[in-house]
Amino acid sequence: QTSSTRGTRLHVIHIAAEMAPVAKVGGLGDVVTGLSKALQKKGHLVEIVLPKYDIMRYDLIQDLKALDAPIESYFDGRLFKNRIWVGTVEGLPVYFIEPHHPSKFFWRGQLYGEDDDFKRFSFFSRAALELLLQAGKKPDIIHCHDWQTAFVAPLYWDLYVPKGLDSARICFTCHNFEYQGAAPASDLASCGLDVYRLNKPDRMQDNSANDRVNSVKGAIVFSNIVTTVSPSYAQEVRTAEGGRGLQATLNSHSKKFVGILNGIDTDAWNPATDPLVKVQYNSNDIEGKAENKEALRSHLGMSSANVWQPLVACITRLVPQKGVHLIRHALYRTLELGGQFVLLGSSPVSQIQREFEDISSKFKNHEHARLILKYDESLAHLIYAASDMFIIPSIFEPCGLTQMIAMRYGSIPIARKTGGLNDSVFDVDDDNIPIQYRNGFTFLKADEQGLNSALERAMYHYKNDPEGWKQLVQKDMNIDFSWGSSASVYEDLYQKSVCRARATNRP
Ligand code: ADP
Repeated sequence: QTSSTRGTRLHVIHIAAEMAPVAKVGGLGDVVTGLSKALQKKGHLVEIVLPKYDIMRYDLIQDLKALDAPIESYFDGRLFKNRIWVGTVEGLPVYFIEPHHPSKFFWRGQLYGEDDDFKRFSFFSRAALELLLQAGKKPDIIHCHDWQTAFVAPLYWDLYVPKGLDSARICFTCHNFEYQGAAPASDLASCGLDVYRLNKPDRMQDNSANDRVNSVKGAIVFSNIVTTVSPSYAQEVRTAEGGRGLQATLNSHSKKFVGILNGIDTDAWNPATDPLVKVQYNSNDIEGKAENKEALRSHLGMSSANVWQPLVACITRLVPQKGVHLIRHALYRTLELGGQFVLLGSSPVSQIQREFEDISSKFKNHEHARLILKYDESLAHLIYAASDMFIIPSIFEPCGLTQMIAMRYGSIPIARKTGGLNDSVFDVDDDNIPIQYRNGFTFLKADEQGLNSALERAMYHYKNDPEGWKQLVQKDMNIDFSWGSSASVYEDLYQKSVCRARATNRP
């Protein structure tokens, strides 16, 4: 069965700054690919528009070729040519835009972090819509993501509907409200938007500075559907503590705002077929986990004396959001409790990186702890497979993927109850939660006592009830974290929005 059972086949075009595995910094890239693959599987036509970065994984793009005709798009008062490339990534059709602009917008050796990011991505947002218009596309849904392509929403209604690109509804997904794309109001004019009209409190004006515009706010105001990546985070960002200044905007647009938990790529993260683990295993036969534990310990030069000694792992970007002080505390507390600890992480913040390098060198020859301070995809797979417990003490967490990956590999999560962690990790000892959903250990307060209580309970269960622990491992491995059900929620939102538009006969 390939066609959608819920209605018509939709044409969905994602306009995004990332797509895994060719251009990925974080979760955004995974969502664009995972959601697109799942929608395609349901029978919809899904296309993606990306910048053509210099540093993409070109080896993972099939049949990449340039189209003959360039697309001209407007910026700073004149037209610039863009070369358009097409290719296939993970079976999905992708358009890559290569601007012929003297600033070489996507020729920087990195995706983000440039002084002119606002220009780079407002240029891209406009060029992407120009491509859709000139290619004669008639999408049902244009789905934009994060501040980088948030410009698409106001550009669509103000400039492109009048030009005839008018078949679509706009969906905007915010993957992290920390990053809002704010800039001096006058910067908005470069991509052709009307600063005077848009720099208003009910439109794109930043909620804390009336001479600045905020692209995420613009997308909230001008999109038909606004989503974020978990139901709990959707609640949190509507409060003063979580909203980073956008809570009032989200509250006044709450009717179109929902949180949908991300899925994970269950083909890439599958212990039964994973080529990067030492021994493959599945929920019916978890013997392989012990061999992976042994393999990791010997690879890292840790003690293998006791197979039953619990191994606690953490794989993360080391940034304040992730609760770095609690991660450090978990290392010491795990050792006090007789466990082993492995941290795989790296930090863009040099002070944090240095702090962890100091700790790492202290434990260089320790029998029971290792810190590996770099990004290492294949080591990550082995750590998920080898570990018994997985620690995620985030201060805030829009969705989080590591708790879901850990469970799929039978590593039991110990997580703070926030954002997407609160929607996917349910405490084994919490009588308010139906038994079938309980899958890990949680704590509420972001302090050492909070973390201790959850870690100690996990250790207690592990040591005193090996049979119960084994059942918990098997249960967690069988939870369905694939994109299928989340994609159905998006599909439903898309269909309803398209139906509403047709019923009222508006563009
Ligand atoms: P975020 O997007 O905030 O970084 P997520 O939990 O959504 O956090 O996604 C993190 C992803 O990055 C996971 O797939 C995790 O395995 C991976 N990851 C994080 N740090 C490392 C690292 N040092 N080496 C390998 N993979 C990492």
